[in-house]
Amino acid sequence: MSSPGADQAAQWFAAQYASAPEGVWHAPGRANLIGEHTDYNDGFVLPFALDRGTFAAAAPHQDAVLELTSRQAAGRGAGAAGRVEIPLDSLAPGSVTGWAAYPAGVVWALREAGYPVPGARVAVDSDLPQGAGLSSSAALECAVALALTELAGLDVARQELAAIARRAENDFVGVPTGIMDQSAALLCQAGHALLLDCRSGEADSVPLNPARSGLTLVIIDTRARHALTESGYGARHIECEEAARALGVRTLREVAGLESLAALTDPVLRRRARHVITENQRVLETAALLRQGQVDGIGRLLNESHASLRDDFEISWPEADVAVDAAVGAGALGARMMGGGFGGSVIALLPQDGAAVHEAVRAAFRGRGWPDPGFLNAPPSSSARRLR
Ligand code: ADP
Ligand code: MG
Repeated sequence: MSSPGADQAAQWFAAQYASAPEGVWHAPGRANLIGEHTDYNDGFVLPFALDRGTFAAAAPHQDAVLELTSRQAAGRGAGAAGRVEIPLDSLAPGSVTGWAAYPAGVVWALREAGYPVPGARVAVDSDLPQGAGLSSSAALECAVALALTELAGLDVARQELAAIARRAENDFVGVPTGIMDQSAALLCQAGHALLLDCRSGEADSVPLNPARSGLTLVIIDTRARHALTESGYGARHIECEEAARALGVRTLREVAGLESLAALTDPVLRRRARHVITENQRVLETAALLRQGQVDGIGRLLNESHASLRDDFEISWPEADVAVDAAVGAGALGARMMGGGFGGSVIALLPQDGAAVHEAVRAAFRGRGWPDPGFLNAPPSSSARRLR
């Protein structure tokens, strides 16, 4: 089963290396339906795979060398066609910088896990925006991880491969992310979301087929990218740890219920903990509704999630609040900010003809003199696989 994107990646490979790839692999980006800032509190998240992602065209290399090229890196003028050559035997955290650290980190993490992948040539192409909160980094890691293990004839279970790709990002690239992005890229099924228990690592597919209910999921890029994202994210992480400590539990997942929060004297910590506890409940309630096929019932939970992130967790941003209000005012069943906060995207559940919602959000932005928001349809799609 090939695709225009796979064919294009194969052509990009051939143009770079003057030979044909042995295969083309693909890993999707993801959206998170609900469950924000719950992962590092040992809680629940509910991501699903997008119909966009990253292609890795690959072939074995006769030497112990990883040769890399990315059409997107080339487009940014990162040297000759974004080309990088890395000797495998000197791979160590810190030895590779820039975009190449993601695929190089995958090779390093595979070898650390006892999978001695040999040299390879890889050409990367993608139709996923980078840094937009749709997890282009995990798509890159997982496409490369699947390509290299299958090229080498290694059979690595998907859950283990997700852990290896996460390790590449955490320990080689140096970004302290949870397991959600890599799990979504490797474990999601078309027409389903993935209920992930971040404490046990358990992953369950939950039906998510909005089209069957005459609905559609849309991602609204608010175009706001705030420098606060990283520091704000870290601050909330620390507050959650403080709240857990004050309540005498290891993580906020262990808190019995909202009643227990009365023991928190600091009102800020109480609000932070309340978000995490109610958000976990909302994720489970969303999954339960989806299992009954009631996609239209989850709109209310998306709205409540946004209110909680805005008022209790205080990580929303003006463009997100305006997009959510305008969307819901014009007929969206529900909408909420997505991601770490302070910038990025909103996810909204709309009637299939969402033109009125698009127009309302655009008009609200125009009225404030903000740049036009972007709209991306987000049908729940399948996880990483070989395409040709
Ligand atoms: P997100 O995962 O939300 O898109 P990240 O900051 O985690 O944002 O990852 C983006 C980074 O991943 C980019 O800056 C780049 O280094 C790398 N990356 C992702 N996709 C590609 C690609 N197609 N080609 C080269 N680098 C990529
Ligand atoms: Mg990322």
